[in-house]
Amino acid sequence: MSYLVLARKWRPQTFHDLIGQEHVTLTLKNAIESGRVAHAFLFTGARGVGKTSSARILAKTLNCEKGPTTEPCNECPVCREITEGNSVDVFEIDGASNNGVDEIRELRDNVKYLPAHSRYKIFIIDEVHMLSNSAFNALLKTLEEPPPHIKFIFATTEPHKVPITILSRCQRFDFKRIPLAKMIARLRFILDQEKVSMSDTALTMVARKGDGSMRDSLSALDQVLAFCGEEVDDPAVISLLGVVDRTLLLSAINAILARDTAPLMNIVKTVDDSGYNIRQFCRELIDLMRTQLLIKTVGSTTDLLDLSDKELEESTALAEKSDLQTIQRCISILLKTDAEMAHSSFTRLLLEMAMIKMATLAPVIPVHELIERLKALESSPRQPSVAAEPASPGYKPAARKAPETHITPAAPPEAPPQTRDWQGFVAFVKTRKPMLATKLEKGSPIKVSEGTLHIGYPKDTLEFSMLQEPDYQKQLGDLSESFFGHPVSIKILHLSGSNGDTPLSIAEKKNADASKRESAVKDAADSHPLVKAALEVFGGEVVAYR
Ligand SMILES: [Zn+2]
Repeated sequence: MSYLVLARKWRPQTFHDLIGQEHVTLTLKNAIESGRVAHAFLFTGARGVGKTSSARILAKTLNCEKGPTTEPCNECPVCREITEGNSVDVFEIDGASNNGVDEIRELRDNVKYLPAHSRYKIFIIDEVHMLSNSAFNALLKTLEEPPPHIKFIFATTEPHKVPITILSRCQRFDFKRIPLAKMIARLRFILDQEKVSMSDTALTMVARKGDGSMRDSLSALDQVLAFCGEEVDDPAVISLLGVVDRTLLLSAINAILARDTAPLMNIVKTVDDSGYNIRQFCRELIDLMRTQLLIKTVGSTTDLLDLSDKELEESTALAEKSDLQTIQRCISILLKTDAEMAHSSFTRLLLEMAMIKMATLAPVIPVHELIERLKALESSPRQPSVAAEPASPGYKPAARKAPETHITPAAPPEAPPQTRDWQGFVAFVKTRKPMLATKLEKGSPIKVSEGTLHIGYPKDTLEFSMLQEPDYQKQLGDLSESFFGHPVSIKILHLSGSNGDTPLSIAEKKNADASKRESAVKDAADSHPLVKAALEVFGGEVVAYR
């Protein structure tokens, strides 16, 4: 016996079996019960969601020997003929292959005659939008004045291509994508009947592959069963259907939220090594992030989510660890990455960069929260010095300017008198001969007495040789006399280099003072209550003192 594909074997034969289209079946049942059945129906919706099956079921409910009834008996000759597709009163026309006007003319002629042995003559036209214009015009004549024994059921995936003159004469039903949970339940039912065991994870992958189409999901299931037989394992399904392993996606998001970059690089490697499409992985990640976004904003019970029970559980747990801002920023990064991947051959690198970027996002603290924290801090009894300061009247919540802090460094220790004389003299020279002053700043004032200044320089330095030249000696003599009020001779000596008692040159002293001042500022800043408080609030560290 030849193998009957699951989609045909398990085609729904009653409205009860037709899943995910309850809004359609309920209306149809009500119409049948109340005897107000339209003469033309238009079933629209994506492929594989049950339009043709519904048309056949509707034909059976209308013509069943025990009817009209809300559910066909599926046992009477009429029902059986329709199921087998050889009823003389139910015509199935494929619009895609019968788009010629001749077929519709034939249909129009046929309409005149009463049904052979049923209540109605029923014309089911699949892919009705494919009919040619002249065929539509021929059809319209019949639709305008339909004989009471005629019913039309049109099905289409593209209702916008059906002429308005036809649309306006039909009762329209929009079929929806089948929700994942319902799809899984139906697939599980079928597998149980077929006595095949499969994990929830694998079954979810199969159901998802159909993307809302029962026929496509059943085709995927056929493929899996043909490959795996009755022993279906998850890795086989993953590789067969070419889907991304969900555990990889979940680990990726966990690592991003934990700000842990190392595992992320390994995940990218696994994705690449397993031969997955990296861009597809990126998109799946976007999808999972969107789920987080929805759970965060509208809650986990929303029907905006199309998830299996297990997926919902996992995603809800994940959402508890994340915050809305982080998710939004991650989605932005991933969307940008996806767009970049379209034009790049470095998809792996792009994914790696996106992963690192997401895992190292700086935490965002909303401005109003910062203000609240600062206010709480100001009124805190632990910080009396801060609380004592009057609040600035012009204080604006959005202002980023921090309160002024005045940090005074410790005053430098007083210099000995003779050094002060030398410093004063160099400062005086600076006003007259700046270049000369720069040379003097590098000298160490070894001895300063009434009549002589002994200035030391390391041997072999430029200053040492230059300042001994008569020209410079003359300048120094004139300047010292002007400054001190009497002649002072200036002796240039060379330093031995090992003398630890050598006084510091002005240049060395400046450096020492600068670093002393810096550390004084640091100490003062670190111990300042406002700085301490800021560190406590923001949990950061001081990176620069200015
Ligand atoms: Zn029947």
